[in-house]
Amino acid sequence: MPTPLLYESHSHTPLCRHAVGSPSDYAAVAEAKGLKGIIFTCHCPLPDGFSASVRMHPDDYDRYVELVAAARAEFAGRVDVRLGLESDYYPGVEPWLERLHARAPLHHVLGSVHPQVPDYRRQYFNGNWFDYQRLYFDHLARSAETRLYDTLAHPDLIKNEAPAEWNFARIRPDIERALDRIAATGVAMELNTSGVNKAISEINPSPTMLRMIRERGIPVVLGADAHRPERVGDGYLPALNLLQQAGFAEISYFLDRKRRTIPLAAAIGSLGG
Ligand SMILES: [Zn+2]
Ligand SMILES: [Zn+2]
Repeated sequence: MPTPLLYESHSHTPLCRHAVGSPSDYAAVAEAKGLKGIIFTCHCPLPDGFSASVRMHPDDYDRYVELVAAARAEFAGRVDVRLGLESDYYPGVEPWLERLHARAPLHHVLGSVHPQVPDYRRQYFNGNWFDYQRLYFDHLARSAETRLYDTLAHPDLIKNEAPAEWNFARIRPDIERALDRIAATGVAMELNTSGVNKAISEINPSPTMLRMIRERGIPVVLGADAHRPERVGDGYLPALNLLQQAGFAEISYFLDRKRRTIPLAAAIGSLGG
């Protein structure tokens, strides 16, 4: 069997109220699929009850840290289990996240703009889908500029909100401006394989946007966004092939919030590809 090299960099726990399976179940799948490690990045607690039904409660945060630590101990020497977080971005949340991120040592912090969250939509959707798409990419760039995040998750998620209203050529200038701003921050972006299960069935972001990311030298982190154990590492080989076609030479991941890289050919080989 080839030597494991890759991490699952985006995965959840039942504490967010819309995922199933214990961290140990996820780690076991990571081991079975030939991954080196798994980073839990569950949905962070937010202030004022913001989208409270789909994330961990503020009182659950310590338990989250303990759950991941217990799985890390259980899988020592087999799979490298690490603590991370998926932290939502919207303007004004920054001080809350600054305090939250300082509470426990994190390895990977995903920044997410979630346009499907009702509390977010209530605040930012004015009834015009194109305006909402433009606002999404502005918020994406602003999230990078906060320097609170290592990687921007599923960075074209907005396309699934109203698939019939998604016109890439029309929104492209906004995406280009956002990517220029993101490239200036050095923050990485995610290639999220769960996109194939969404309304517009393709990995997030699209192959065209992926090429625009590569042209700007923005590093890419791979994640399956597993909300159940069997999705850990899901679709990694096709995703790595897509990166190769888009002209990437390496894939990134974060440990201790520092970016590391693996040559793409070695990453593909580690999965037997
Ligand atoms: Zn989720
Ligand atoms: Zn996620």
